Amino acid sequence: MKGFTRMIRVNENFLKLQAGYLFPEIGRRVAAYAAEHPRADIIRLGIGDVTEPLPPAIIDAMHRAVDEMAAAETFRGYGPEQGYEFLRRAVAEKEFGPRGVNLDADEVFISDGSKCDTGNFQEVFGLDNVVAVTDPVYPVYVDTNVMAGRTGGSENGRYGGIVYMQCTAENDFIPALPKQPVDMIYLCYPNNPTGAVATRDQLAWWVEYARSNRAIILFDAAYEAFISDPAIPHSIYEIDGAREVAVEFRSYSKTAGFTGLRCALTVVPKDLKAYKRNGEAVAVHSLWSRRHSTKFNGASYISQAAAAAMYTPEGRAQVKAVIELYMDNAAAIRRALGDLGYEVYGGVNAPYVWVKTPDGIGSWEFFDKLLHEANVVGTPGAGFGASGEGYLRLSAFNKPQRVREAMERLAKL
Ligand code: PLP
Repeated sequence: MKGFTRMIRVNENFLKLQAGYLFPEIGRRVAAYAAEHPRADIIRLGIGDVTEPLPPAIIDAMHRAVDEMAAAETFRGYGPEQGYEFLRRAVAEKEFGPRGVNLDADEVFISDGSKCDTGNFQEVFGLDNVVAVTDPVYPVYVDTNVMAGRTGGSENGRYGGIVYMQCTAENDFIPALPKQPVDMIYLCYPNNPTGAVATRDQLAWWVEYARSNRAIILFDAAYEAFISDPAIPHSIYEIDGAREVAVEFRSYSKTAGFTGLRCALTVVPKDLKAYKRNGEAVAVHSLWSRRHSTKFNGASYISQAAAAAMYTPEGRAQVKAVIELYMDNAAAIRRALGDLGYEVYGGVNAPYVWVKTPDGIGSWEFFDKLLHEANVVGTPGAGFGASGEGYLRLSAFNKPQRVREAMERLAKL
């Protein structure tokens, strides 16, 4: 290479990322086992993907949207980058309104997924902000901040510069307020992976913390539709003052079976402020709107039309029935494991059950044991962070008879 003074360089932040993202590693182990045991009937309670098809009201709306796209008079090309008004309005009025949360339709931004939104939102904040995440954590929050350059390298599974807030059975998987100052706080309730929920009081502490420290809460409510306890808030905006300090992410993926169709939303209230170095306040809403316009051309009309069908009476009833099916699975998992003497958490207001591994064995060891001896796939808790070691996540997304069979196999271990 002698003689070249210039060269294209990589973003070296990407090189800090720990190798082997959790799900590829699980995939590798399952594929290796399946190759050695081609007749094994493997039951997957690992990755959180839905198994039920889209409900009929949603499919009908999609068919209608496809027909519109086929006729010159109703064809639609590029839509508004922030989402169609019909869906933004339906979200504000029919999803948040009934919970006493008043939003303007243009505070709702439609996208093609919460993974992108939770990953992209950090872009509007300065690189010198301190990030706080729970441990265990949905890995997207961490990895996207690593890519952006907000962290140091990793050591023992933790990146320098990130504040990790331990979530254990002792604190009901709700982190204590950090002792050191933090600026960007990622919270996810109902939680992936622990299945825990935050009470009104717990969310109120966080809102108060963010208000008094001029911090921002990035609240991921991807699983709010699975809450069954009427006392648990579905939205952080049910807490007074949250509009000034919180963004909320929601997704149609698990709520209505859109993992393959793709549609999600992010709420950015107009009162939400971040600050310039000189202390001047800036509305985050206009930054996110600008970012959407520049980097995103809108979710497809067909998926937005499909999402809007969720707010019809038939759509609601059908979506509710699917959620009940998954939550019956969660209850069956909890019951079976509880009867077998396992320590189990979650699975009541969330589609994930968080199981303490028996006899103090490690997460990956327990994962391998279930795979090899019961042909059941879970997700090792350690893959979600150091505090997840000693736990395994089981997902309720599967057919009821498969869940039953998985539990029968565990009983025979
Ligand atoms: N947030 C959490 C906590 C999740 O568990 C997931 C998906 O598993 C997502 C966001 C991403 O959802 P989407 O399919 O909308 O990208």
